[in-house]
Amino acid sequence: MSGRILIADNVATNRIILKVKLAAASYDVAQVSSGSELMTAAQRDKPDLIVIDADLPGCDSFELCQQLANQPETAAIPVMMTTSDYGPDIRLRALQAGSLDILPKSLDDNVLLARVRNLLRLHSMEQELRRREGTAADFGFHEAPAEFTARPQVLLVNDPGAGTPNWQHQLGGSLDADIQVVADRNVLKTIAQSNACPDVIILPINTDPAQSPLTLVAELRSRAETRHCAIISSIAPSAGQTGISALDIGANDLMETDSLPAEAALRITNQLERKQSADRLRMAMESGMRLAVTDPLTGLYNRRYALPHTAKIAARAHETGQPFAVMVLDLDRFKRINDTYGHTAGDAVLQAVARRLRNNLRSVDLICRIGGEEFLVVMPDTDMTAARAAAERLRRVTQAEPVFVATDKPDIPVTLSIGVSIGGLDGQGAIPVETIVESADQALLGAKTHGRNQVIFGQSAA
Ligand code: GH3
Ligand code: MG
Ligand code: MG
Repeated sequence: MSGRILIADNVATNRIILKVKLAAASYDVAQVSSGSELMTAAQRDKPDLIVIDADLPGCDSFELCQQLANQPETAAIPVMMTTSDYGPDIRLRALQAGSLDILPKSLDDNVLLARVRNLLRLHSMEQELRRREGTAADFGFHEAPAEFTARPQVLLVNDPGAGTPNWQHQLGGSLDADIQVVADRNVLKTIAQSNACPDVIILPINTDPAQSPLTLVAELRSRAETRHCAIISSIAPSAGQTGISALDIGANDLMETDSLPAEAALRITNQLERKQSADRLRMAMESGMRLAVTDPLTGLYNRRYALPHTAKIAARAHETGQPFAVMVLDLDRFKRINDTYGHTAGDAVLQAVARRLRNNLRSVDLICRIGGEEFLVVMPDTDMTAARAAAERLRRVTQAEPVFVATDKPDIPVTLSIGVSIGGLDGQGAIPVETIVESADQALLGAKTHGRNQVIFGQSAA
């Protein structure tokens, strides 16, 4: 993965060593030696990752972190610190300042690179989500409101063998989340049995590869129900290679077992916030996509959805050898309804007809509003006899009762003309769906010219 990394360190040798390590891994590295240079470069270049020496002279590196986190232009850039004075206290300080991690300067190259990869991956994923959010916003969809966010669920996997501290008790007060503790062999079972998937899983990673739960990280990542949950691997401070593997397999963060409870709480909160924001975006995308294919007046699918989905039904018919029915339905003399009772009454009639169609078709049938007062119905696994019965039923129920539109208006009588065509018949081969719809359309025209309020079959059904 390529990425642009900005390093702030006042000791030239440190900068060069770090630059060489990162450049060797094909990262694009820029360097600065002071706090003020850092702020300028960060705002100007918007790198994908910033690495700050905790002991920059003439300024407070932790305060710099905080400033980067508070400025809108730089808030989204992940920050990592380096220190020659590594330990639980400075880790806590770094996290409190908004840095995502702090690593000892004497660190093994592989561990450093694994952490860099992890932070860059996180950044590029968040950028992608934000891009999609931008696109969604352009179409008028907005992030789902935050009030839908349920109370966060944290699953703490207990493995005394890995030396996991008793974080549950220590975290209780400082974390606004439900914490559940489970033995590692029961993780998958517990998740399968509960109805809410955990937002964050704290998973201790053994240094003994023979019994390492690393495969559990991979397993959690590959399952649909846990794919989006955040995994924090807790590791012994000396667990070098195991930590790298955990990150590369898909852990979101590493937490050393000597971490202070406040650090654990910060790391969890960090992951919770990211996860919730990603969840909200995903929800907005899903509802956005739904909106994009839905007609707002009737709630039916719109034209954009109609053809591709019809093509899917046709492809399936081709596989199974079962025919399918296509109907084009058009309200009769609808213009007259608008002219007589007004556009609002016309809208109410369209909504009522849509309801009647929905109530008289199966859930597998596709129902779309493809034009002003024109609908398309596609019925999988439906032959001519069944299609005729269904079309006649729709025609009948539409005509059966005049539509109530408002108390100050009379109920409005309404009828439908329907053209039907059958696809997937023997000998048809793979006729393009457009042709089948066109045939139903022609049949509809026939129904109109023959007096309306009737069902006519098209050529392909003959
Ligand atoms: P025919 O029986 O031949 O189908 O006659 P018609 O009057 O139904 O057909 P025509 O195509 O002449 O008129 C359709 C009308 O539908 C014209 C248009 O103003 C109206 N219309 C289209 N979309 C909407 C809508 O969303 N709401 C309302 N109220 N009217 C609509
Ligand atoms: Mg009409
Ligand atoms: Mg029409």
